[in-house]
Amino acid sequence: MSASTEFLVAVRDVVGSGPVSLHEPVIGDIERKFVDQCLASGYVSSVGSFVVDFERALTELTGAQHAIAVSSGTAALHLALLLVGVQPGDEVLVPSATFVATANAVSYCGAIPHFVDVEWGTLGMDSVALEDWLTQIAVMSDVGPINRRTGNRISACVPMHTFGHPVNADGLFRSLERWNLPMVEDAAEALGSLRGLKHCGTFGRVGTLSFNGNKIVTTGGGGALLTDDDDLASRARHLSTTAKITHPWEFIHDAIGFNYRMPNLNAALGCAQLARLEDMLASKRHLTAVYQERLVDFKVGRLFVEPSDCRSNYWLQTFILAEGHEGLRDEILGEARDNGLHLRPLWRPLHLLDPYVSAPAAPLPVTEELARRVINLPSSAFIS
Ligand SMILES: *Cc1c(COP(=O)(O)O)cnc(C)c1O
Repeated sequence: MSASTEFLVAVRDVVGSGPVSLHEPVIGDIERKFVDQCLASGYVSSVGSFVVDFERALTELTGAQHAIAVSSGTAALHLALLLVGVQPGDEVLVPSATFVATANAVSYCGAIPHFVDVEWGTLGMDSVALEDWLTQIAVMSDVGPINRRTGNRISACVPMHTFGHPVNADGLFRSLERWNLPMVEDAAEALGSLRGLKHCGTFGRVGTLSFNGNKIVTTGGGGALLTDDDDLASRARHLSTTAKITHPWEFIHDAIGFNYRMPNLNAALGCAQLARLEDMLASKRHLTAVYQERLVDFKVGRLFVEPSDCRSNYWLQTFILAEGHEGLRDEILGEARDNGLHLRPLWRPLHLLDPYVSAPAAPLPVTEELARRVINLPSSAFIS
């Protein structure tokens, strides 16, 4: 048997027969009940009690002082960047090993993503590489660090918790504090993930979540901002609702706002989904153990497990091919596809995408290795 067939036989042993997708939501009776209640109330759109309940549940779960529900994770990132002061022409430090939305949100602000490398231990931004790079290219000024090579101001940094595994938030935070840079955490994939006792998305000035259909908790489409900053929270609410001033009848808007609020109907689905988060986390952790047992003797690579002192939500199961076995990646992906199994490579690193090829970038050796070696395995909670 070829190495790729042997690998897929093992995956089949874990996931069972038939077509298997990468990640599917669990939708059941509570979801139907809450959505029905919402429909019956008539409040399906931008006002309603499910949004309030959903935001409260998010603050209880994450420990953040404020949660502001919005229409997508990308919208949450866009607002977060504006609110920490990202201006047109600025550069924002982001990983290249992330979903394209992280960089797109920077572009929506008229700013430029500036790519930095990730580390093997967390798959997230490397604090040592970041510090070294800033020391090499940046000089401090009264408006913040300036990239000496481009002359642009660097105004924020957006680490991302890859596949739900917490980044080294403390290391990054220390570095960013030295450079007086706000940290915006892209925690889109990390609902339910902890570093120590702290929830992902609560380490920086502001963190963002996604509730897209493929995430661990879904609202159909949706996102949220998390913050302890009262002023930032109220500005987020204001900007996400077209910057409309409260008035009994007049329509007055004091800024160019956005239509980014989460509709009540989506929040109803979200309230039901949050009620099952603990079960989802337990199932996903169990699935990791089953994969691990079946794959542990494989010489061609290893299953990625959560960093020490962390509880990962294991959103996507991740197999990393060993050095010298990179060639197996496309064989496995192709054979899996023919076999009805949905496996996935890492996102094409963003610095290699057409819109971002000329964006500033630090050396990205780990990102490029991961792109050759990462395979995500079917990860739906119900598999286990
Ligand atoms: C899903 C995701 C987003 C965007 O979320 P949407 O709700 O789809 O807009 C942003 N960043 C990362 C890393 C993601 O995985």
